[in-house]
Amino acid sequence: MLRADPFDEPAERLVLRETVSRLLGDRLPTERALALDRDGSFDRDLWRELGSMGALGLGADEAVGGSGGTVGDAASVTEELARVLPSLAVDHVLSGMVMRMLSDPRSGVASAWLPELAAGTRICSFGLSEPEAGTDLLGLRTTARESGGSWVLNGQKTWISLAQEAEAVFVLARTDAPQEGRRSRGLSVIAVPTDQPGVHVRRVHLAGMRAAITCEVFLSDAVAPLDHLVGERGRGMALLARTLDVERVMAAAISLGIGRAALDLHVAHASARTAFGRPIGAFQAVQHPAADSVAELAAARALVESAVRVIERAAPSEDSRAMTLSAMAKLIAGETTARVVDRGMRAMGAMGLAEESAMQMYFRDARLQLFSPVSNEMVRNVLAESLGLPRSY
Ligand SMILES: Cc1cc2nc3c(=O)[nH]c(=O)nc-3n(C[C@H](O)[C@H](O)[C@H](O)COP(=O)(O)OP(=O)(O)OC[C@H]3O[C@@H](n4cnc5c(N)ncnc54)[C@H](O)[C@@H]3O)c2cc1C
Repeated sequence: MLRADPFDEPAERLVLRETVSRLLGDRLPTERALALDRDGSFDRDLWRELGSMGALGLGADEAVGGSGGTVGDAASVTEELARVLPSLAVDHVLSGMVMRMLSDPRSGVASAWLPELAAGTRICSFGLSEPEAGTDLLGLRTTARESGGSWVLNGQKTWISLAQEAEAVFVLARTDAPQEGRRSRGLSVIAVPTDQPGVHVRRVHLAGMRAAITCEVFLSDAVAPLDHLVGERGRGMALLARTLDVERVMAAAISLGIGRAALDLHVAHASARTAFGRPIGAFQAVQHPAADSVAELAAARALVESAVRVIERAAPSEDSRAMTLSAMAKLIAGETTARVVDRGMRAMGAMGLAEESAMQMYFRDARLQLFSPVSNEMVRNVLAESLGLPRSY
C-alpha cells in the first residue's frame, strides 16, 4: 500500500495489476520469495501460470502469438513482480524483450516460437553482454560465420539471465565487418539452441537478483540453422533499437516495484517497533525519510508514465522524445529506489539485515537498477549530449 501514490492508470491495467498481484499473493508469499532468492531458484510452474494468465507475452501482438496489451500493461506486471521477487521481474523483462523482437515482421522463423514463449512453455534468453562488452556493447567479440549451411558461433556471453533454463539464446554476434567506420553495422541476432555440444552454460552466483538465474554462455563452434537469423543480416542493432526504449521503461518499473515494497516495509516497521516508549515512526528522523521516499517515488512514477504514453503513441515524430523520456525514467527511478531502500534499511536497524526480512533482498537487488540494462552514467552521457554538450565517450 502506497498511500500518497494512487495509480492513475486505465481500468484494464488496474485489473491486470490486481490479477497478477493476487496470483503472487497465493503462489509467492514472502517466505517463498525469500527461499527462491536464497536458493537462487526459478519456479517453472509459476512461470507457466503467469503465461496462462497472459502476463508473459504482453506488448507482443496477439496476431503473431503474443498476449497483446500495451507497454503500460507490461510495465504494471513487471512492477508487481518486482514488489514480490525482483529477480522474477528481471526475467519477465528480458523474455518480454525477446518476444517484442520476435513480433517484428522482419524477425524470421524464430517468431513461430512466440505462442510457446508467451505461454511460458518455452524459455529463451537474450545474450548481449560479454566479458569485454557491457556498457561498451559494440565492443563485443562473439562472431558468427556461415559454414556448411549453418551459422557457426564462437565467443562468450556473460550475465545472461535464465540461460540455464533456456532452450535457445538470442545471441548478438558480429557477422560482418563494421561499415563506414560504424561498429553498430555488421552485427546480427541469431537464435542459438542450447542443447548442443558447442554451447556450455555455467551458472554465476551473485549477491543480488539471485533468482534471475544469471549465467555465462560459452560458444565453441556452436551451430544454428541459417534461418535462425533474426531480422536482417548485419542490422541486428537496428532491430534491437526499437525495443531499447521499452526495456528502459521496464527497468524503471522494476525500480518502482522495489521502491514501493521497501517503503511499505519501512512504514510497517516504523509503526510496529517501539523505542523510548513510542513507535519509532513517531520520531521525525524516521518519518521524514519515509515522506521523502513516497514523494520521490511519485515523481519517478510520473516520469515513467510520461515515457509509457509517448512510446504507446508510437509516432515516428516523437522517437527522440520517447528515447529521452525512457532514459530519464530509467535513471530517476533507479536512483530514487536506491535511496528509498537505503532509508528503509536505516529505519529497520538490525531487522533490515535479517534473512527473514525482505528488506535485505530489496537492498541487494536495487543495486542492479543503477547499471542495468544500461548504466546510469551512460544515460547521463546521452542526456548531456542531447543538451548540446560534447559526446564524452
Ligand atoms: C542480474 C543481472 C542480469 C543480467 N541479465 C542480462 C541478460 O539477460 N542479457 C545481457 O546481455 N546482459 C545482462 N546483464 C548484464 C548487464 O546488462 C550489464 O551489467 C550492463 O550492461 C553493464 O555492463 P557491465 O556490468 O559490464 O559494466 P561496465 O560496462 O564494466 O561498467 C562499469 C562502470 O563503468 C562505467 N562506465 C563505463 N563506460 C562509461 C562511460 N563512457 N562513461 C561513464 N561511465 C562509464 C559504468 O557506468 C559503470 O559504472 C545482467 C546483469 C546482471 C547483474
